[in-house]
Amino acid sequence: MDGLPVQVQERLQQLSAQFRAGLPEKLQEIRGLWSRSFDGDIEALRSLRYRVHRLAGSAATFGFEELTDLARAAEQQIERDLASELCAISPASREGLEQLIACVPEESGSDRHIASDDTPDSSTDADGGWADDEPLKLVILAGSVSGLGVDFAEQLAVFGLTLLKVEEPSEIDSLLASAMEPGQSGFAYVIFLSTVSFFSEHLQRLSDLTALRGTYSGRFFTVLVGDEDDFAGRLRSVRYGADAFLAIPFDVTQFVERVETLTADRNAEPYHVLIIDDDPEQVSTTALILQNAGMITSVVTDPRNIFRVMVEYKPELILMDMYMPDCTGAELAGILRQNDNFVGIPIVFLSVETDADKQLAAIQSGADGFLVKPIDPEHLVTSVRNRAARMRAMRFYMERDSLTGLLNHTSLKARLENDLARARRVGTQMVFAMIDIDLFKSVNDTYGHLTGDRVLKGLARLLQDRLRRTDVVGRYGGEEFGVILFNTNLRNAHRLLNELRDSFSRLWQSNGESHFRVTFSCGIAGFPNFESASELNEAADGALYRAKEAGRNQVVSATEP
Ligand code: GH3
Ligand code: MG
Ligand code: MG
Repeated sequence: MDGLPVQVQERLQQLSAQFRAGLPEKLQEIRGLWSRSFDGDIEALRSLRYRVHRLAGSAATFGFEELTDLARAAEQQIERDLASELCAISPASREGLEQLIACVPEESGSDRHIASDDTPDSSTDADGGWADDEPLKLVILAGSVSGLGVDFAEQLAVFGLTLLKVEEPSEIDSLLASAMEPGQSGFAYVIFLSTVSFFSEHLQRLSDLTALRGTYSGRFFTVLVGDEDDFAGRLRSVRYGADAFLAIPFDVTQFVERVETLTADRNAEPYHVLIIDDDPEQVSTTALILQNAGMITSVVTDPRNIFRVMVEYKPELILMDMYMPDCTGAELAGILRQNDNFVGIPIVFLSVETDADKQLAAIQSGADGFLVKPIDPEHLVTSVRNRAARMRAMRFYMERDSLTGLLNHTSLKARLENDLARARRVGTQMVFAMIDIDLFKSVNDTYGHLTGDRVLKGLARLLQDRLRRTDVVGRYGGEEFGVILFNTNLRNAHRLLNELRDSFSRLWQSNGESHFRVTFSCGIAGFPNFESASELNEAADGALYRAKEAGRNQVVSATEP
């Protein structure tokens, strides 16, 4: 570390302090994954190994020797667990993790993170119902908004949003303060909703409120609605500092979608960058800068390992040195470009090479950019972030259906095969559900195709919001959806889907003039009862058919094959 520029050394020291401060939280994460891997959640075990691996890496960088050794040992043990037939966490790993956790002194004030939730229990997880990792969102509705149904609160609750109404602006400050207080009600986001005219009437008071956005940066948003979708209303909403504007009438799905967009950024997974460089000091500097900007980094020092890492971690960008002992960066880029699976991944060279011809030659090998060392950290972060964001967007659209944003037919089927193989390996149960909207043709015929599309989007959002993040939702085609519920039995799945069916049937749909309700029918089939993807598919489809026959708006389970 001594050879590094002073700035970097200072940064490293800062990061070292941050690392130390963040340790309890990291260990808490490790504990969480650890308890999940008790019931054979192989993904949890993989993530656990990865977390421990990262902990080993950063502990080494910051000179926490004991922690490094323990983390490395634990990682190797978990790696053996993963390779073993058992595919579950072994007593040896548990012991290793225990030692790891014990080696971090509990500092005062940090035990809140450490003490809670250490009993292995996935019951709430597997039972269905609310996704437990979704951030809580509160909507404060000030004054009245015309056209909102009396059951607006209930409708929002379907999407996991809590509604509180206030009549007086004076009530808002304290409400906001207590909702935002860390550790109190635990709302991750607060959305303030009122009409443009309500805002105008209480301008002074509410301007103070929007100033609070600075304080609760990224967690507090204002959505204003106007009676008309006119320019003046929109302009005023911008002047009042609103984050979004909706014209009346709007339906619940539109509002929820807006909220989703506003809060999406912070929910987003960090970008994953792969650094290939044989110089450990360069690697740690680059990695630290990127990690400091909230990204996840993996490192390959031996180019021969690259494919394994590519497959396992699916990085969204590769940052590569131009000169390495066994092969050049250009050659490695060439190898990656020859593989169909990696053809789209952005490759950026980071090198001291200033010769323009050589840079050009490197670009011609299939790389997307060239950054010259030493690089300004901010420049590095921006270049990486922009390209990784494009990669993520591209991947997203390749795998998704454009109307609903859900996995498309091809990706859903691929996921089903994948999850089935995983369930077989781990020896767990899983369920495949087929959902088909009832009498959808008449929705289109009565209210128009656009309204039909909105209904589809609404159902897609409902499914996504209410299922666990580990569950998979796809649009099977037209007005049919497919859901994969991992680590769940048929009985729980039936209960969960029936709740969803009930929620959806209570949701008011609208085409701006009339309000109506729509229902769906659902067929489910479980593994290992049905063994292959095609059997599951057929069985779920058959059950769906029976649900329709029996009068629609119900969930039917496929019994024995
Ligand atoms: P059932 O209860 O038996 O499922 O009746 P249904 O009317 O839903 O079934 P049917 O298969 O006869 O009609 C499906 C309709 O879904 C017909 C088609 O126009 C409509 N549809 C398919 N894809 C879309 C879409 O992307 N947008 C809209 N608005 N409608 C769609
Ligand atoms: Mg259909
Ligand atoms: Mg239908």
